This record gives sequence, C-alpha cells and structure tokens, in this order.
Amino acid sequence: MPDQPLGAPGTIRAVMAMTVVGHPLAQHLLTQLRDVQTPPPVFRTIAKRLTIAIVLEAVRGLPAVEVEVQTPLERTTGRLIFPDIVAVPILRAGLGMLEAVAELFPEVSVGYIGLERDDVTLLPTSYYEKLPPIEGRHVLLLDPMLATGGSAAGACAKIEERHPAEIRFVCVVAAPQGVDKMRREHPNVPVFTAALDRDLNDRGYILPGLGDFGDRLFGTGSDSGLPPSRRP
Ligand code: URA
Repeated sequence: MPDQPLGAPGTIRAVMAMTVVGHPLAQHLLTQLRDVQTPPPVFRTIAKRLTIAIVLEAVRGLPAVEVEVQTPLERTTGRLIFPDIVAVPILRAGLGMLEAVAELFPEVSVGYIGLERDDVTLLPTSYYEKLPPIEGRHVLLLDPMLATGGSAAGACAKIEERHPAEIRFVCVVAAPQGVDKMRREHPNVPVFTAALDRDLNDRGYILPGLGDFGDRLFGTGSDSGLPPSRRP
C-alpha cells in the first residue's frame, strides 16, 4: 500500500482502519475530560463512561454465536458475543480504561504492559509485562493517549510475538503522528478513538489534547505538558 501523507483529504479511512467515535454522548464526555477544571474523581468517572462508548464501537464484528433462549413468553433466538477477549492496558494511564472493559465483559482476561522510553535509544523498553495466554485470542489494547505512537507500536509488537487472533487499539485521543506510526508499523491493528487531534507539542503532548491523562486520573498533578511560560 503506498505511503500517503496523513491529513490529505479522505486518506485516513482509505489507508487504515481508524474509527473516530463521533456519537454526541462520546463527544460530550470528551469535552468534559479536556476541561482543565475537571478534578480527578470526576475525570475517572468520565474516562470510564467514555471508554464504554469507544469500546462499543471497538467490539463490532467480534465473533458471535446464535443461541436460543426462553423468554417468559416463548422461545427465541439471539446472539451472544463470543467473549474470548484479552484486555491489555498499557501502564499506567491505560488502567483508567480497564474497569469499563471489565464491566462490559466480566469474563475478560487481563494482561499488563509497562513501557518507558529509553533515554539513550529513545525506543520504548518494557519495564513490566504480565500477559495471559494470547494465542488465537482477541486483544483490546488500551492506552488513552496515542501521541507519538511509540508505546502503542511497542506494545503491539510484544503482543504480536504471541500470535493473537487480532489486536484492536482503543484510545481516547489520537495525534496524527501516532496514527501514522501505527499505520506504518501495524497496519492490521485498527484504531478506535474519540478524537483525532491536531498535533504534538515539543514535549510529546497532544494538542489540544487533555494534558497528562495519568496525572489527571490519579491526581498526581504535573504541568500536564504546558510550556514553561504557562506552568502553574
Ligand atoms: N500522554 C498523555 O498523558 N498526554 C498526552 O498529551 C500525550 C501522552
């Protein structure tokens, strides 16, 4: 597939599977998450609700089986998703999306990947990895901010070593740079997000973004990627 510049009109959907969840409720929740005034307890609740909205899109097309059930009135048929799902949050911000997946799919298996950037090589290196059996299973990879794409691509590489049936990447906000990296390195991994934002700043934060997701989630406070002139 030829490499096309990201952002050229109409190219994104043509060259990679990316879904921006434009449902008004998802956008309502995202706007609240973006608001710097939203405190951590509210941020956590909204992050969970928004993740549910995005995951509803992300699980479309998962294998389902037709079953017969007895209603109080008569027998009928319905469909049940075959829930052989593994959720893998990328530490630590991905934890803010896990509860939503576990609530939707109580039988989900959960693995964890912790990645940090090596100061010398600038490549993502793993500092923690605990994964259940992955082979042949459907992986929802969770990381709210697809910024440079380093962690997402690194985590996909680690999971792909274990031969999943597929990986679906679920985030809250994506930057063009991260989407581009995923498209180049993991073209088979569809990306589900509530927003494709404009750019990254020189510290790798998404613009307009919502700041540091992990800090806002866990109340650890930081400058949230603000340039020095605007830090509190
Ligand atoms: N990680 C975050 O938490 N926020 C960003 O804007 C980029 C990466």
